[in-house]
Amino acid sequence: MKRRIYMDNHATTPLDPRVLEAMLPYFQEEFGNAASRNHEYGWEAEQAVDRSREIAADLIGGKAKEIIWLSGATESDNVAIKGIVEFYKDKGNHIITTSTEHKAILDTCKSLERKKLARVTYLPVDTQGRVDPSQVREAITDDTILISVMLANNEIGTIQPLAEIGKIAKEKGVFFHTDATQGFGKIPIDVNEMGIDLLSASAHKIYGPKGVGLLWVRSRGPRVRLTAQMDGGGHERGMRSGTLNVTGIVGFAKAIEIAKTEMVEENARILALRERLNDKILSDLDEVYLNGHPTERLAGNLNLSFAYIEGESMLMGLNGSASPDLAAIAVSSGSACTSATLEPSYVLKALGVGDELAHTSIRFGLGRFNTEEEVDYVADRVISEVKRLRELSPLYEMAKEGIDLKDYFAGASH
Ligand SMILES: *Cc1c(COP(=O)(O)O)cnc(C)c1O
Repeated sequence: MKRRIYMDNHATTPLDPRVLEAMLPYFQEEFGNAASRNHEYGWEAEQAVDRSREIAADLIGGKAKEIIWLSGATESDNVAIKGIVEFYKDKGNHIITTSTEHKAILDTCKSLERKKLARVTYLPVDTQGRVDPSQVREAITDDTILISVMLANNEIGTIQPLAEIGKIAKEKGVFFHTDATQGFGKIPIDVNEMGIDLLSASAHKIYGPKGVGLLWVRSRGPRVRLTAQMDGGGHERGMRSGTLNVTGIVGFAKAIEIAKTEMVEENARILALRERLNDKILSDLDEVYLNGHPTERLAGNLNLSFAYIEGESMLMGLNGSASPDLAAIAVSSGSACTSATLEPSYVLKALGVGDELAHTSIRFGLGRFNTEEEVDYVADRVISEVKRLRELSPLYEMAKEGIDLKDYFAGASH
């Protein structure tokens, strides 16, 4: 089989074999419905689900009963935001979020705006992708019921100053939700220290199975109430009806357990891989720009703009579709992931990166199973691909001849 290298760990991650092993019994002998109260099959399933709750809550400093299981981070974001807006509609209808959130947040907000159920402030971010906490403070009005800011960005890896925002939210008595999907299990989270009231996460971003996620909802200090978005059997304390995905939940918990135990060591290893990749590329290519924050970023995220080449052409050169004899490398481009049309990434746009440069960006997402050998191979392929494409690029030639291309970099701030 053709060799493949997976370096797109922000999109999803491979299942850790230890997670699969933990899940297997729950597909077979322990197949019970966690809501069956009358027999051992049900009790065993319920016990497994409740043990998983303990493990998940323990990672973030919450309580087991505050965990709601659901189908993933998209559902979790929807349940949190819509649930708050509906429950607290008599208190206010204003939401504060940022322009670089995941679509699960942005489209949920857009939908509420369209239905005239909420007014939303989308705060800008700086050139490195961070929101300014003082702008959050200034945006709060008497009508504000919710602040939603992600922990770490899925495209550029930038980590937001959640503790500072949480402090402001507490001071002003506004609920604080975070889509923690990219940072959960990768960087330490303490919901109490960070002033978080609701937190969303997903198993498949941390080497767990697809189709299972969680919403943590604070029960005291303050107690957060939600209107359920799914009607049915009243599972999960009425907040999310539907038979629980027991195998998925057990797998998610195992993934969390591993993440917690190995976090420090793994972060150091992945950071070293990222630096190796970055250093190799930068030592051989000019006109390469880092997108996102130089230090406040996920260890596994490297988002680079390679001026004067099209990210899409670069992807074709790397993903094997144009070179059947070479290894297929899986990475993402800043223009591909949001839609079928070649819109530049809205995240890069929000940083002030111009359309031209945004189109040249590649997101490398390093993860648990990447090796030094893979990093070296990918760096070499990237370097030769960029050199090849730049040889074909009249713009690159013009730049080298000293012709001023400031229009090309219009809007770019770095
Ligand atoms: C992947 C991701 C989601 C969506 O998660 P699913 O479980 O696939 O629905 C939401 N937010 C962020 C930041 C993500 O990275």
